[in-house]
Amino acid sequence: MKYRRAVFRKKPYDTDEKGDFIKAVREMTEYHAKRNPAYARILSDHGFTPDMLKTEEDLYRLPFIPTLIFKKHELFTMDKRRIPVKATSSGTGGRAGVIGFEISGLFCALKMVLKIFKYKKLFSLKPTNYIVFGYKPDKNNKTAVSKTAFGTTLFAPALHRTYALTRKNGKYEADLDKVCKAVESYAKQKHPVRFMGFPSYTYFLMKMLEDKGITLTLPKGSKIILAGGWKKYYRERVDKYEFYETAKRVLGVDDCNIIEFYGAVEHPVAYCDCKNHRLHVPAYSRVIIRDVKTLEPLPYGEIGLVELITPMIKATPITAVMPDDLGVLHPGEECGCGIRTPYLDIIGRVGLKDVKTCAAGASELLGDVKL
Ligand SMILES: [Zn+2]
Repeated sequence: MKYRRAVFRKKPYDTDEKGDFIKAVREMTEYHAKRNPAYARILSDHGFTPDMLKTEEDLYRLPFIPTLIFKKHELFTMDKRRIPVKATSSGTGGRAGVIGFEISGLFCALKMVLKIFKYKKLFSLKPTNYIVFGYKPDKNNKTAVSKTAFGTTLFAPALHRTYALTRKNGKYEADLDKVCKAVESYAKQKHPVRFMGFPSYTYFLMKMLEDKGITLTLPKGSKIILAGGWKKYYRERVDKYEFYETAKRVLGVDDCNIIEFYGAVEHPVAYCDCKNHRLHVPAYSRVIIRDVKTLEPLPYGEIGLVELITPMIKATPITAVMPDDLGVLHPGEECGCGIRTPYLDIIGRVGLKDVKTCAAGASELLGDVKL
């Protein structure tokens, strides 16, 4: 896996003159095709062979797998017993998918996260109070969101952590009253505060504080780190700029201290917003936007289904996946922040019906699946 190593040695927005990325994707596709008969069948039914990947322009030829498929099938390439980490996607409104990660892939992920956190200056030695809009990890909760939310509280030493979601009678409930009280008490201390997790809860919390007539100025160095998407609150998604204004008004946090991450269990690459709050594609992945009906790749500026490509993982064939997101890709130069890689705008979620249509092809290949 020498090309995979070369890709994950890169700095977050390095360019790729040597063509390491396409070579790494070919190397990974060959690996999966040799060891995973179900995956090999998907490739051959599309008339695809890994040697078709010669330059980046060929990436669109690689058959992608809709993430819905992973919720119905265990598509492991490696022997299940040899896979050390199995992460469950959150399974909003449906069943959860299981993605396996091998040690070498996790090591790539770790290198990537450390580089991106360094780039965003997220490491700090200052003791920090945390508000985690996620689940308190416990033995019954294996979702990646809770693991990530907990993990990211390790980048600055934690004085105290308050979790917004707690387990009551076997169910998770948001306790925003408790969180409001914690924020007020943290604001009186001199230590920075970090908010971690779902944007929707962060927004509801700010609105709740404002409704109570509470406006705070959090200590210098406080940050709001958003991840996990808007989930079931998609329809109530607020405009990004309204979110930033509210954070400034209610918590006294400037937008340069609000950082958003995008990623998925099925595509464990960390996309992080730039100073203009755009999600540039890092050196560890590529994005293709496809026409909703024809699935043909679309040029910059056109809305379509988002396909995500990374040569990170050997345990599960997630090299090219399609979540149920709709997005647009723009040339990097249009942003003006100095990063040259294209940026992705996630503009919504496709109806389940549309994803079913493009999942159907892969499903048929895998056998009897009811979507
Ligand atoms: Zn930018």
